[in-house]
Amino acid sequence: MTTLLYTHPASQSHVTPDGHPEQVARIDAVVAALAHPSFAELDRREAPEARRDDLLRVHPEAHIAFVEASAPQDGFVSLDADTWMSPGSLQAALRAAGAACAAVDAVLAGEARTAFCATRPPGHHAEREKPMGFCLFGSVAAAAKRALDVHGLSRVAIVDFDVHHGNGTQDLMWDEERCLFVSTHQMPLYPGTGAPDETGAHGQILNLPLPSGADGALFRKVMEERALPALRAFAPELILISAGFDAHRSDPLAGLDFTEEDFAWVTGALCDLADETAGGRVVSSLEGGYDLEALAASVAAHVTVLMERGAR
Ligand SMILES: [Zn+2]
Repeated sequence: MTTLLYTHPASQSHVTPDGHPEQVARIDAVVAALAHPSFAELDRREAPEARRDDLLRVHPEAHIAFVEASAPQDGFVSLDADTWMSPGSLQAALRAAGAACAAVDAVLAGEARTAFCATRPPGHHAEREKPMGFCLFGSVAAAAKRALDVHGLSRVAIVDFDVHHGNGTQDLMWDEERCLFVSTHQMPLYPGTGAPDETGAHGQILNLPLPSGADGALFRKVMEERALPALRAFAPELILISAGFDAHRSDPLAGLDFTEEDFAWVTGALCDLADETAGGRVVSSLEGGYDLEALAASVAAHVTVLMERGAR
């Protein structure tokens, strides 16, 4: 068995204004890294569009209609200071959410144990009725809801190690007792949420902020002492990862000091946990990561571990 890789050319058609960090070159760098012969065994699949029902589990119709209506015929439109749409953005966002949902379907069908969705725009900042932070739809949250409501799982965990707090995922999962959401993030930093006292309606949200300058040693300690025990106690039947790589020391948008080895380590730790409680099932989706070289190296390290673990 190998690891599934979901991509779609639409990820390259979501264009942002010159100088915007969430740029087409990001996905070009990821796709180029995963074209290396060491990734030849990946089971490469085209990301489908998200179904309306999958989006409606996390966003009201009005939000979806707003995003659809905002897509320009040409040029750009800004939804906020950070969040832009070009003519290709709607299709890209639909494919990004669709990739995560399709990966859940395939992994739960036993077609693979692990999957990575190399898509953009990211999704973890999109709130129920508000696109923000480069994000239009809550892709990973939609995938979690699909696993719970369509596949009938009882417990799904989302682990978000993007350097920014996943305020969108937190908003979409706030009332969802069947989902443990664990986030490590730099604080203070955009978007400003993610304090430890934000614990969800059922105490099922665990925010683990890290101070500016935190390195991989501190990250591993926080994961080992706080995140992994909480995950083990929850005993998820599926682990979803919001895989942002902007905690890397080279990233221009943040101030943490991780290396690609730290991303490989956390991937292995989450796969270990999935082996214990979830039949090894891990679905990961790309979120941030804005230094192109660091992003490519980090994705390569992450997917290498997903492949090693998925092959067992
Ligand atoms: Zn981020």
